[in-house]
Amino acid sequence: MAQQPVFDQDGEQRVDEFVDDTTDAAERESAHRERGTSRPITVVGNPVLHKECQDVTEFGDELAQLIDDMFASQRTAEGVGLAANQIGVDLKVFVYDCPDDNGVRHVGAVCNPVLDELPAARRMLDDSNEGCLSVPGAYAELARPDYAVVRGQDAQGNPISVEGTGYFARCLQHETDHLYGYLYIDRLSKRERKGALKQMAEQEPRYPVVAND
Ligand SMILES: [Zn+2]
Repeated sequence: MAQQPVFDQDGEQRVDEFVDDTTDAAERESAHRERGTSRPITVVGNPVLHKECQDVTEFGDELAQLIDDMFASQRTAEGVGLAANQIGVDLKVFVYDCPDDNGVRHVGAVCNPVLDELPAARRMLDDSNEGCLSVPGAYAELARPDYAVVRGQDAQGNPISVEGTGYFARCLQHETDHLYGYLYIDRLSKRERKGALKQMAEQEPRYPVVAND
């Protein structure tokens, strides 16, 4: 995907180049996952999920291994996105394997992500169900824009922009939130948040999790 219109802070349209995260999606995802080791998922209450993560500054082998481990962990937990603090690592990086509005599969990793502010004209809210591997078993409706652009860096440190629609737009917003210390339940009303935590308490996670103290 390239040369799509987006808007800058002033609502001016400009031509932007987005990363190609759809070509060879299945092959890239399985290569990461096969090099990686699946790790247990941190859950709500673990301090690493509730504070802003550190910026990624080293784009070397250690980061590549972390990204492989994140893909392996995401697959084990059957997630469509995973932030580093969800496997207990205090670094601003997330991975995704997520379909968009047209059912096209997007696979990639973003370091130091920042969401574009969208002009009001692009802010169409979509109130689909949302869930989180760190709140196992719970789902709640949450209104979010159905279009998102995230800017950051790839695993080599090159600047990238990622564009998402529909469910993938939701994923980009959800994962970026994680790296700033926010879970989707923090965006719910008090009552809905309580309901989500109750749903979580009533069932066993279907994948390994890190027990809270
Ligand atoms: Zn999550």
